[in-house]
Amino acid sequence: MSLPTYQNFIHGKPMANKSKETFAVTNPATGEVIYHVEVADEFIQQEAIKSAKEGFSVWSAMMPIERTRILNKAVALLRERNDELAKLEVLDTGKPIQEADCVDIETGADVIEYYAGLAPTQLGTQQPVGGDFFYTRKEALGICAGIGAWNYPIQIACWKSGPALAAGNAFIFKPSEETPMGALKLAEIFTEAGVPDGVFNVVQGAAQVGQWLTNSPDIEKVSFTGEVGTGKKVMQSAAASNLKDVTMELGGKSPLVVFEDADISQAISAAMLGNFYTQGEICTNCTRVYVQRSVYQAFIDELKTRTENNIVMGDPLDPNVNLGALISKKHQELVLGYIAKGKEEGATLLTGGNAASPASAPNGYFVEPTIFTDCTDDMTIVKEEIFGPVMSVLVFDDEDEVIARANDTELGLAAGVFSKDIQRAHRVIHQLQAGICWINAYGNSPAEMPVGGYKQSGIGRENGVETLNSYTQTKSVYVGMSQIESPF
Ligand code: NAD
Repeated sequence: MSLPTYQNFIHGKPMANKSKETFAVTNPATGEVIYHVEVADEFIQQEAIKSAKEGFSVWSAMMPIERTRILNKAVALLRERNDELAKLEVLDTGKPIQEADCVDIETGADVIEYYAGLAPTQLGTQQPVGGDFFYTRKEALGICAGIGAWNYPIQIACWKSGPALAAGNAFIFKPSEETPMGALKLAEIFTEAGVPDGVFNVVQGAAQVGQWLTNSPDIEKVSFTGEVGTGKKVMQSAAASNLKDVTMELGGKSPLVVFEDADISQAISAAMLGNFYTQGEICTNCTRVYVQRSVYQAFIDELKTRTENNIVMGDPLDPNVNLGALISKKHQELVLGYIAKGKEEGATLLTGGNAASPASAPNGYFVEPTIFTDCTDDMTIVKEEIFGPVMSVLVFDDEDEVIARANDTELGLAAGVFSKDIQRAHRVIHQLQAGICWINAYGNSPAEMPVGGYKQSGIGRENGVETLNSYTQTKSVYVGMSQIESPF
């Protein structure tokens, strides 16, 4: 059977490229190619900009409440098609259907709904100055671009396009070349909901297509999700081309601090969620788990038992499976390389540590849920983002010590504290250098809550009111009401 080839989505429909260049997409749970996608060549790139210019002029002129109505139709379609979209997301990413079914599309739809609601609330200001006055308007930026990572493809496309479109911008989105399907489905849904042609275009390809977006003088802002190193390149090119605005959602190596007065079982649940959900491929993961000495042994005993008994690896389309396949063979090898380094550098392997070949998905890129104990701060596994199911557990004695150790990193995406002492919990979290923090919880990210990194984990925020503002620019209009005083 010949496999389908999907085209770029430009001006409300699929558009053929001229170069005929394509790339293959592999299902990480089977290792098999499942479809091909046309690369956005020069012709597609030109058409994407031409179309976005047209789309912008129509969309930005609409009343915000009209945009609300249209975006809410898209939200309804996303929810209606949840199961079908979740399945496609599993085929692209290898993550368990039990996650995709209730998280990926739902949290994407929530964010678009949130910004659809905010669109008509954007107010300007007015202020008298002597007899004159000025007022401000919030205006859309123009054409904005989004570049996505492969771990939450449709959610990332929704989180980026939701505020951009609500504020009246046109958007060109490039998904990761590993997971191109979700964005195409979102584009179809936007069109069906009544979003005018050209307001949401999807261009496909790898770094080169991303570089074209960041270099394009017609694009006013780029919102990027990916690795720190790529983020630096994106920012350089955004500055060099036309001083584009940027939002950067980058990597993390986040600490979870478990004090001796914590509910230990709850803290273990958080540590497992923050290391094994989406087989560890989550930017905010708490991959450095600091446990106070007096509860350390009890913590690792229960953690080992639960990890060995409660994790089900296998075909991610099976609703009982709760640990899926890593995104690619290359990434599986990278994660296994980190595990080898952990052993070499003297960490104790508590459980896991190997590639896996579950009976229901023998050719998938699986890695066992892996826990290292006796870790020290200078080990590679404790310092570098692994982006796989690998947890490092460290022991600490007192509060000041753990704060200093938790902050000793160039990254600052997220952090968590478990303690029943409310004063301590707040005191510690206020001193941790991270943008997304949890107390007695981990990983929750509602549309209303701004998320983004400190230090090299990012610039700007997604979600929350401030992100809508970041897709607008303020125009001040001074109005003279009296005779102009002039020396000329
Ligand atoms: P990546 O940096 O390799 O790629 C991200 C995207 O950038 C892809 O679409 C890729 O094609 C594109 N790209 C690559 N080179 C480019 C260039 N020079 N110019 C423009 N675009 C380019 O990241 P990845 O491997 O896809 O994703 C994993 C990383 O993403 C991890 O570091 C993870 O922490 C991070 N991440 C962060 C968040 C967050 O919200 N902070 C969320 C998810 C993932």
